[in-house]
Amino acid sequence: MSRSSVVPWWISWYTHRPLSEFELHSPWWVSGYSEDGDGRGLTIIVAAVLAGSEEEAWAEVLGAFDEPRSDSDIKRRFCDEQPLGAMVADSIFGDRWPKAEWMAWSPQDGITCACGCERSAR
Ligand SMILES: [Zn+2]
Repeated sequence: MSRSSVVPWWISWYTHRPLSEFELHSPWWVSGYSEDGDGRGLTIIVAAVLAGSEEEAWAEVLGAFDEPRSDSDIKRRFCDEQPLGAMVADSIFGDRWPKAEWMAWSPQDGITCACGCERSAR
C-alpha cells in the first residue's frame, strides 16, 4: 500500500475483548463504556487510522488484536473518511483526545505511531 493511496479515517467500535489483547499502532482512545444485550461490558474505542478504504480501516482494527479476531469481537460504530487537511496532528490531539507519548500522527507522511515500529517517524 503506497502512502499516497491512504487517507485518514475516524473509526470507532465496541468490544468486549480486554484492552491488553489489543495493540493498534495509530492514535486510539477509550471514549466510553456500554453493555451488550446480555449485560456484558463493552469498551467504546475511537481511533485515527490511515487506510485506502473503509474495509482496510476495519482490517487495521481487527489486525491489532493479539489473536486473529473477527467481526464477532467488535461491533462497528462508525468509520468516517476525513479530508487530509483536516487531520493534522494539531487538530486531532487535545483535551478530548490527549496525545500519549507513543502517539504520532502525520497523514501526509504516513506516520501514525512513535513507538519504534515501521509506522513511526524516522
Ligand atoms: Zn508503532
